[in-house]
Amino acid sequence: MALINENYLKLPGSYLFAEIAKRVNNFKAQFPDANIIRLGIGDVTKPLPPAVIDGLHQAVDEMADEKTFRGYGPEQGYAFLIEKIIATDYRPRGIELDIDEIFISDGSKSDVGNIQEIFGINNTVAITDPVYPVYLDTNVMAGRTGQYVNGKFENVVYLPCNAENMFRPKLPKQKVDLIYLCVPNNPTGTTLSKSELKVWVDYARENRAVILYDAAYEAYIQESDIPHSIYEIEGAKEVAIEFRSFSKNAGFTGTRCAFTVVPKSLMAMTQTGDAYPLNKLWNRRQTTKFNGVPYIIQKGAEAVYSPTGQQQIKELVAYYMTNAGIITEGLKSIGLQVYGGTNAPYIWLKAPNNMDSWEFFDKLLNETHIVGTPGTGFGPSGAGYFRLTAFGNRENTEAAIQRIKTQLKL
Ligand code: PLP
Repeated sequence: MALINENYLKLPGSYLFAEIAKRVNNFKAQFPDANIIRLGIGDVTKPLPPAVIDGLHQAVDEMADEKTFRGYGPEQGYAFLIEKIIATDYRPRGIELDIDEIFISDGSKSDVGNIQEIFGINNTVAITDPVYPVYLDTNVMAGRTGQYVNGKFENVVYLPCNAENMFRPKLPKQKVDLIYLCVPNNPTGTTLSKSELKVWVDYARENRAVILYDAAYEAYIQESDIPHSIYEIEGAKEVAIEFRSFSKNAGFTGTRCAFTVVPKSLMAMTQTGDAYPLNKLWNRRQTTKFNGVPYIIQKGAEAVYSPTGQQQIKELVAYYMTNAGIITEGLKSIGLQVYGGTNAPYIWLKAPNNMDSWEFFDKLLNETHIVGTPGTGFGPSGAGYFRLTAFGNRENTEAAIQRIKTQLKL
């Protein structure tokens, strides 16, 4: 008799997006002519940059010729891409990495979800709250979190991020082993300065914890004192794994390419108290379960690092950040409390008049025909908050803000 992994049954389910779809469909049935603008999902809308398209085309031609055709590639990714990443993303920031410390993958979602496999089941996990749901759900599936009681998993340490602490998590009171940090943050748009991040690195060093640092939105950092990599903090190579993605800086959400840095000096312990390198474990995991990102896609990602590619991705990020500015200014001008949007494509707002997240969702949909994401979908501390994204096109973003300014009854 085959038994299921009952940990899956502990998950509250994809209530958020199902509920959003249900409410939008009800609204559409009532008002079929309404022009709905979606500023809810974190998907990009602009096409791939021309430099990437050229890279992809050339690689397709290589695959058509027996002399340049490629079959299976290295599971860890091609050196041509890893070398560019080191030379462009890390060396100019004073960070030296070896080629075998970077693993190319088909997305940060896979990596932040799979990484927990190389850690023991008895580790205590800390997550910021609200949070990108993948960190929590994958630990639930693995059986590391206990039961779901009153909106929380009993063995997870939630680090509340709210207006009182300016959405910056405080160190946990109890000892934790794995800490997920997402900076710039999805959904709050918050960043951490070097000194704020150093507090976490120091904590991890003192407690032999590991930080799982999701920097998928690193390209959106505008302010000069915000670190782009956790390895800008002294000692971080001994305590942190960093996740990066081409999804949000270069429009790869549908093309799929990302990478994860696992420094060779990063250790975790065996039951008998011996230190073991996580790089070796992740390499074992990837070589066993993953057969690499397609050559064509890695050539497209490599083109991101050409001088024109770099210029084009800067323009892409600037486009979305202009949207973020339009949304932020528009919301502030009608007196809403707005966070994020400065170093991130996410705008996190407090629902007015003490409304809960879903009440505000309905109000926004009914009065302005705009769809956003209720903050409760990202964790209990998201209650009373709401997320809008800057990933729409300019026309829709401007139209949405115009509607909010003129039609939303506050
Ligand atoms: N990490 C965070 C915080 C995200 O918000 C997302 C996507 O929305 C991802 C990772 C997934 O990135 P990828 O497209 O590389 O899988």
